[in-house]
Amino acid sequence: MEVIISENAGFCFGVKRAMKLAWDEVCKGDENGVYALGPLIHNKQAIEKFEENGLITVDNIENIKDDAKMIIRSHGVCKNVYDLAEEKKLTVVDTTCPFVKKIHNIVHDKFTEGYEIIVIGDSKHPEVMGINGWCDNSATIIKTVEEAEKFKALSGRKYCLVAQTTMNLKIYGEIVEILKNKIEDIEINNTICSATKARQEAAAKLAKDVDCMIVIGGKHSSNTQKLAGICENICPTFAVETVSDINSEEIKQYKTVGITAGASTPDWIINEIVNYIKGL
Ligand code: SF4
Repeated sequence: MEVIISENAGFCFGVKRAMKLAWDEVCKGDENGVYALGPLIHNKQAIEKFEENGLITVDNIENIKDDAKMIIRSHGVCKNVYDLAEEKKLTVVDTTCPFVKKIHNIVHDKFTEGYEIIVIGDSKHPEVMGINGWCDNSATIIKTVEEAEKFKALSGRKYCLVAQTTMNLKIYGEIVEILKNKIEDIEINNTICSATKARQEAAAKLAKDVDCMIVIGGKHSSNTQKLAGICENICPTFAVETVSDINSEEIKQYKTVGITAGASTPDWIINEIVNYIKGL
């Protein structure tokens, strides 16, 4: 069996940076505790490693002790989290990806200038919730072509559009075309991250050359799910989190296996799976 690993599989620049910053802080420790506001990344196994070394994950800033250290993950957070952190005298370790921070700045500046904000993305994704928090949670969030078709623009208003960094490029393009016809004054910022695009394109290219694809990543990782969706349209695809999710009998039917992984999948998990499949 031949195993081919896709280019750009696994940690992207932003996650690599965030994990390094977070790991350094966890190792340094803090007498009042080191907290992560929300799971650091969408990868259960990686989070377990951090928590074994003292990181405490909480969902709400209110659950963080005053004067403690708080890590903001790469997805970024709303503006009010920074305000609350100041009130609680927290030491903030901000690992927000610079590409996400750029979206916060665009949204905050344009909202302050009086623009209506549109975010193309998933309203339930923490990155989008964070972005929305930079315009007083007033953004219109559009995820599908159907939602774009239903959208009604306010007359005489200026709009500023941004996208969730992991948005599917094709759906983004379709939504933008619809909105351009509905809104006279719209400033479009394609904020889809190039890491995502490169990973998606490399996975699609590889899927054409292999008999099946294995997509490795957390079950709750949006970019992993999107990768799996792209590959599924081309060849039989299996989304797995760890070696234990692999159905070896099924995989054995294939001669060439392609492997890709979401942005939050550590190298050690990819290597474990590659070695396992090579051994089949
Ligand atoms: S996918 Fe892009 S935007 Fe998201 S963390 Fe990685 S580098 Fe940053």
